[in-house]
Amino acid sequence: MSDFNIPRIIVDSHLDMCMYLRQEHQNGRNGVIKSDYLEDIKAGGVNVIVSAIYTDATDINGGWLQQACEQIAALYAEQEATPGLFRLCTSYDEIVATVNAGELAILLSFEGCEPLGNNPELLPLFHRLGVRGLGLAHARRNLACDGARYTSGKYDMGGGLTALGAEFVTTAQRLGMLLDVSHLNDAGTADVLELATGPVIASHSNCRALNPTQRNLPDSLIKAIGDTGGVIGINGCSIICGVQPHETTLSYLVDHIDHMVEVTGWQHVGLGFDLAERIMPGASITVNGTSVPVFDIVKNYAALPQLTAELQKRGYTEEMIDGIYGKNFLRVYKEILK
Ligand SMILES: [Zn+2]
Repeated sequence: MSDFNIPRIIVDSHLDMCMYLRQEHQNGRNGVIKSDYLEDIKAGGVNVIVSAIYTDATDINGGWLQQACEQIAALYAEQEATPGLFRLCTSYDEIVATVNAGELAILLSFEGCEPLGNNPELLPLFHRLGVRGLGLAHARRNLACDGARYTSGKYDMGGGLTALGAEFVTTAQRLGMLLDVSHLNDAGTADVLELATGPVIASHSNCRALNPTQRNLPDSLIKAIGDTGGVIGINGCSIICGVQPHETTLSYLVDHIDHMVEVTGWQHVGLGFDLAERIMPGASITVNGTSVPVFDIVKNYAALPQLTAELQKRGYTEEMIDGIYGKNFLRVYKEILK
């Protein structure tokens, strides 16, 4: 018996929404979710979005802590300006109530713990503000860990969690926050898995077996995450999927899903599209010395039926698609977000 009054719940476990909200609020706007996002979200039937709190090291307008606070403040201002459309949710029960009311449920999660600096006491504070996920890293070293680089060589410094990083993890776990290993290097991911007492997620990561970037997960870690009962959100960004043109197609994206399902089972696979074109239009990134374009393979949520059709073509049942599209992540939310 489902807790929800609609047949299929769709969860996107990674969207850089709050970074965009902050940017637009600095431009004097409000009501941005309503005007820039909701039509597409509704067209795709998406019910739950996890917005990252990602802070840019080079932003001239403020340090990491201020950027994180401004991103959360922008979401609060949005909710006040356009009530009745979406809600910041902090528990599974709130997600259920919000989705059943026909509104979008939004969760907040760190993508890089830089805003915490060296102070674990800030974590309960951000938890009070509504943050329910701790992704420790982005593609750089911080005080807690080493982030994986986008290259295929081993160019991260190879360190696991620092003592501070371990304290962040145990504190987040005690508070009832999701532990997210996307962007962590292998040593750090192994350390999180060792400290975890419940399911661990990778909100937006693909298979290293198909695209050898360190940013993707090796089979051993895919399996280990699945063994915790956790879920890995498949990433629809071109450079995570692959770098050659034939690797950046919908079919190749589904190859990543196939491989992950083979390694750990469909109950441990979800969606973490990482839609990037809104926040980084026309961007490119240097991978192994070559500049490659950054674009979204599934162009927007309205294009989701193309993915569904490809999965059906490959024999995925409705039960499997329901799981991958939302139920698997919801299972973890129910366990962690009390
Ligand atoms: Zn990311």
